Amino acid sequence: MTDYPSLHLLIGGEKLAGAGRNTQDVLNPATGEAIGTLPLATPADLDTALDNAAMGFAAWRAAAPEKRASVLTGAAQLLRERAGTIAEIMTREQGKPLAEAKGETIYGAMLLEFYAGECKRIYGRTMPRPAGKRAEVRYEPVGPIAAFAPWNFPVINIARKVGGPIAAGCSVIVKPSEETPASALATVQCLLDAGLPPEVCQVVFGVPDEVSRHLMASPIIRKISFTGSTAVGKHLAALAAEDLKRTTMELGGHGPVLIFGDADIDRALDTMAPNAFRNAGQVCVSPTRFIVEEPVFDKFRDGFIERVKALKVGNGLEDGVQMGPMANSRGPDQIERMVSDAVEHGAHLDTGGERIGNQGYFYAPTVLSQVPDNAEIMNEEPFGPVAIINRYAGEEEMLAEANRLPYGLAAYAWSNDPVRQERLTQQIEAGMIAINAGGVSAVDMPFGGVKWSGHGHEDGHEGVMACMVAKSVHVG
Ligand code: NAD
Repeated sequence: MTDYPSLHLLIGGEKLAGAGRNTQDVLNPATGEAIGTLPLATPADLDTALDNAAMGFAAWRAAAPEKRASVLTGAAQLLRERAGTIAEIMTREQGKPLAEAKGETIYGAMLLEFYAGECKRIYGRTMPRPAGKRAEVRYEPVGPIAAFAPWNFPVINIARKVGGPIAAGCSVIVKPSEETPASALATVQCLLDAGLPPEVCQVVFGVPDEVSRHLMASPIIRKISFTGSTAVGKHLAALAAEDLKRTTMELGGHGPVLIFGDADIDRALDTMAPNAFRNAGQVCVSPTRFIVEEPVFDKFRDGFIERVKALKVGNGLEDGVQMGPMANSRGPDQIERMVSDAVEHGAHLDTGGERIGNQGYFYAPTVLSQVPDNAEIMNEEPFGPVAIINRYAGEEEMLAEANRLPYGLAAYAWSNDPVRQERLTQQIEAGMIAINAGGVSAVDMPFGGVKWSGHGHEDGHEGVMACMVAKSVHVG
């Protein structure tokens, strides 16, 4: 087993720790034990990072696309080579099963590989003008970016937060979650080892609100990129507005899953039941509200419960475990509150509904059915191992339920009627929709939401263009 690494800030390529800096413990969510000590950046550290970011941007914006691409490709290769070690570190600080952690690390490599290709696909446009005149649109990197990443996908979130900016020619200061620092540091280390100038990508930790306020107050930072809750996203968007900084906001969701009577129910169950409990449900695109058409409700609910009861829960480092603990102590507290609130409002508790064991942050995979609209869990993102299965009369009612909430991140629909598939695609208010499929994430597709789920994109061509600004050039 790999030792949990010592932790540090990464500023201008220097690994900084100690020297009187405040620290914070990193906990193993399977045991609750402290496994590491994380140094927190001082205001002077953040100022140094800002100065470096300004220098890094000046150099990196001028780097040839081939150079940027070769760094990203090299880093992806290193991530693949180090995936076994990084996965062990991730499971120990975040809790997810080892196989999921390894898969995530490989996906992080795929993201960097995709971004490497995009470096060479940043095109401008030339407009028709009379001879002797010229008009063109160029795309330039927006500038140094401050990025804030959460703890649920400690490698993918970092690959997204830094891959687009690096491809575009920006510099980036990233503040990963203080709860999963080692996976983030290991990801950025791959970039540095692949030849990225250290001023281009730096890593800081601290009290989140203090770090974001400090970085955002600086005129050096030209864009904010945040992934996390809608509440924090609104707060950061308001701060960014004070200085008219650009923003990308990847916020919460409350994934509706529409199951129609004409769907292949067994395939829907085999795909969606495990999906709802991947990463213990701590996924922004998690399928949460199963909106099931009357004739197949009983079959779907029974099949779902059977599959959920068969899930093996345990320490993610153990063989065969399919669901680990929640990532922090806030998780089971929140789910416990939401489940009892749902039951008090008349929901049926089909399975789960309790903590497991007396160490770590385990909560049993839980299914609630016939949950009334006024229960908290029908309106707030649970972000945990709970699925809601409710019965509806038909398409109109189901669509209304899917669009009832202010969130619009991922939506899923299962139906074999192609006309209905198209109708749903047009009418569901979401940034991403999967029809007869379980995934909404692909490296070459834009990832992002509408309404309270945020704005802007990561991944895909859009993920790079989100780090660029258009410049109109008129030559007389
Ligand atoms: P939170 O909203 O306090 O934190 C979410 C993330 O934002 C953390 O990584 C945190 O470090 C960071 N953060 C918090 N305040 C910040 C600030 N002022 N400036 C910069 N970064 C800041 O909540 P949490 O308890 O960690 O998670 C609770 C909820 O957040 C979840 O229930 C879920 O709805 C949402 N969440 C969403 C995602 C996602 O992928 N969209 C990821 C993690 C959490």
